[in-house]
Amino acid sequence: MPKLNENYLNVQDSYLFAEIARRVRTYEEKHPDKAASVIRLGIGDVTRPLTAGAVASLHEAVEMQADPETFKGYGPEQGYAFARNAVAEYYGRNGVKVDPDDVFISDGAKSDTGNITELFSKDNVILVPDPVYPVYVDTNTMDGKQIAYMNGTEKNDFLPMPDNSVKADIIYLCSPNNPTGACYNREQLQVWVDYALENEAVILFDSAYEAFVSQPELPRSIYEAEGAEKCAIEFCSLSKTAGFTGTRFSYTVVPKELVFTASNGQIMSLRDMWNRRQSTKFNGTPYIIQYAAAAVLSEEGMKECMENISYYMENARMIAETLRRKGISFTGGVNSPYIWFKCPNGMESWEFFDYLLENAQVVGTPGAGFGVNGKNYFRLTSFGTHENTKKAMERFEKLL
Ligand SMILES: *Cc1c(COP(=O)(O)O)cnc(C)c1O
Repeated sequence: MPKLNENYLNVQDSYLFAEIARRVRTYEEKHPDKAASVIRLGIGDVTRPLTAGAVASLHEAVEMQADPETFKGYGPEQGYAFARNAVAEYYGRNGVKVDPDDVFISDGAKSDTGNITELFSKDNVILVPDPVYPVYVDTNTMDGKQIAYMNGTEKNDFLPMPDNSVKADIIYLCSPNNPTGACYNREQLQVWVDYALENEAVILFDSAYEAFVSQPELPRSIYEAEGAEKCAIEFCSLSKTAGFTGTRFSYTVVPKELVFTASNGQIMSLRDMWNRRQSTKFNGTPYIIQYAAAAVLSEEGMKECMENISYYMENARMIAETLRRKGISFTGGVNSPYIWFKCPNGMESWEFFDYLLENAQVVGTPGAGFGVNGKNYFRLTSFGTHENTKKAMERFEKLL
């Protein structure tokens, strides 16, 4: 009999979105007359299609694959140089210096934030914020690693800062944050980087929502903090930036400065380890996708993406305005597509979920699904259409 990885027994059932779907289905069966008016502002998926530029580049790359002169088979595991350069140039336009040699192209920030755990042994103190994107917790649990939580609460604006009671080895940060929409400022990121340098810790920084940062004084990359190249890995993706959730393109930066001493005294480079890992277990993102992604990352391409992002941020503005009028405090919505607010009248998040579904036919995401600190909070996303968002907010206005 195989000995199983029994750490899987400790992974919580990923029941959040399944439970949401089940409750919506039950409601629709009970109220067939209302089924058509249910508005979904819950899931974290985009709805706007790919930009015209992205589609044109995809077509172009398909044609290249049809021609023996330009056909491409296996590509470099780290990603084509043109794609890594496009990522480095994109960073450069935002004022951040990244070496294309330290850029790894992948098929998702989810896969990379999950797979990176392989570089670290089991006996690390892993610090994860709560509320949190569940991938960080589940992947470390599958690995049998111990997790320490840091609380995101109204008191710290859902932006936990280092607390010297825990000596962390690995720290997960996500800014702008999913689910809270909160965004660290430069000084706060610098405090985290200084803490990591002092404690020889590594920061795993998820910047999947960097393109939604609208206030220019807020950082879009951990590398805006001084010394971050010596302590931080950054994960980013075109999923939300360019609507690539179904097209799949991400990039991870592992700076060559990230070196640590092994127990036998040998120097180990995280960049080289990640390169070894990817070369062994990954055969690259499709050429067609990398070709289109490079076009998207260009100045022209990004201009088009920003039209879609502005579309979403107009929805965020509508949601925020409604909550403000109702006197409900919230985070997010300005530098993030997510809006996170306290459930009215002391309701628990699943209770509020049912209340909202039954009385306004609006579906959101209960904060309890993101950790204990979310149990009285609720997440709405701006990834819907203007029409649906407007309708949902009119119903909110009447109900709350
Ligand atoms: C959506 C999202 C990602 C992107 O994941 P992909 O695998 O690149 O689609 C990464 N991190 C967070 C927190 C997200 O919400």
